[in-house]
Amino acid sequence: MANAERIKRIAKRVTERHLAGNKIIVVLSAMGDTTDELIKLTQQITNRPPEREMDMLLATGEQVSIALLAMAVDALGYPVVSLTGPQVGITTDDVHTKAKILNINEARLREELAQNRIIIVAGFQGCNTHNDITTLGRGGSDTTAVAIAAALEADVCEIYTDVDGVYTADPRIIPEAQKLKIISHDEMLELASLGALVLQPRSVEMAKQYGVTIHVRSIFNNNEGTLVQEEKDMEKEKVVSGVAHDLKVAKISLLDVPDRPGIASKLFQSLAAERINVDMIIQSTMRNERNDISFTICRDDLARALTVAEQVRDEVGAGGMAFGQDVAKVSIVGAGMITNPGVAATMFRALAEENINIEMISTSEIKVSCIIKAEEAVKAVQALHRVFELDRL
Ligand code: ASP
Ligand code: MG
Repeated sequence: MANAERIKRIAKRVTERHLAGNKIIVVLSAMGDTTDELIKLTQQITNRPPEREMDMLLATGEQVSIALLAMAVDALGYPVVSLTGPQVGITTDDVHTKAKILNINEARLREELAQNRIIIVAGFQGCNTHNDITTLGRGGSDTTAVAIAAALEADVCEIYTDVDGVYTADPRIIPEAQKLKIISHDEMLELASLGALVLQPRSVEMAKQYGVTIHVRSIFNNNEGTLVQEEKDMEKEKVVSGVAHDLKVAKISLLDVPDRPGIASKLFQSLAAERINVDMIIQSTMRNERNDISFTICRDDLARALTVAEQVRDEVGAGGMAFGQDVAKVSIVGAGMITNPGVAATMFRALAEENINIEMISTSEIKVSCIIKAEEAVKAVQALHRVFELDRL
């Protein structure tokens, strides 16, 4: 919701759906760049804001938007109530700025629905057991919406964004990218966490766990978007459903590490203790009782990860350390891969033909990811989109 005009338009859309006989709960995010602006503001005060206070601040963005939308709906003459996360009884754990939802007390929601009110809930926020406000991580409104849909066993959870669905690749760099009609939770999970930034990964995880169907649609039109749903009754046309890329990657290598039990455990436990998410991990084969361990992380975590890695390097007597932030990850995703041999080979050939060097590889049942030079990411996505014929769905 960028401005007042937009809010009024959403109000109209909501009331139309209400009029058609639906019981509606709207989960809202903050307006426009509000959350980013709030973060910028803190940077003028301190570069180490306490996370509790960060949540206190960031949660205000959603409180503004729900009140305004409720006013707009009221002005159209419909019964409406706005509610914050704590008011809806969204209980989370204590991890400020990245809290996980533990429980939703549906009583208030059911009560308001029984009164035939349209409910507008502040996304992205909850409350821990000490009654402190928490937030769910960037893009967390998606997760609020899925959690509420799951708690109330809603028919569908529609998520409105500025794209009209999930595409075979980022349409900004691949104009031929096609909108997918349907995608499985697992595929979406890979795409969401691979930087296809349509949905917060956590929301997809939760949708999978509770069997919630998500309909990703556009705020700008009424087109059918993409259904993210359980895989069992989907027909697979293509082996690969999409190509994702993530430019926010950094890699760190510990070099000449003594090859004995406990080293990897020490390194990755220390990173986990700092809550740094590690993505790919590669350990080279041993030579002269030593090997190299490389891993990738989100670039935002690089400074903190380097501190940890330096400590571990010194403790275990590694020969050296290297890092790079000019890398990107490109991935192909598709539930059809399990049953089709040679998919990875096709990917590597396509990259080789573009003269792109692969620095790291990781695979799962439904994806293959490669770390390459950041500057070659776009070329790589184009080549992969072409070789798997994703422009012809
Ligand atoms: N306002 C929050 C953010 O910008 C939550 C969301 O957009 O879903 O990350
Ligand atoms: Mg969002």
